[in-house]
Amino acid sequence: MRFPATMADLLRGGYVFLQTKPCTDCRALVYWFRTPTRREGPFVKTPRDRFVSHFALCPAARIRHADATCPGQGELFPSDVVSSFAPRA
Ligand SMILES: [Zn+2]
Repeated sequence: MRFPATMADLLRGGYVFLQTKPCTDCRALVYWFRTPTRREGPFVKTPRDRFVSHFALCPAARIRHADATCPGQGELFPSDVVSSFAPRA
């Protein structure tokens, strides 16, 4: 799976769409998916209709999860994605 991914890519890759919900920290609209490893992951849509992990974008979540990164999800956090979609100050 490569990110940013389309909805079709996610479904084909074994992700299951669960629900949309505003992020409690930054209020972005978050799309929750169950990942192939049976975790629940928050994603946000980019302007090009692709999905990236909200953990990579949400300032609050990034801080909260900084010490709890899972090696298996490293591909969700490519540095180029983080830098190109970082919120503008
Ligand atoms: Zn957020």
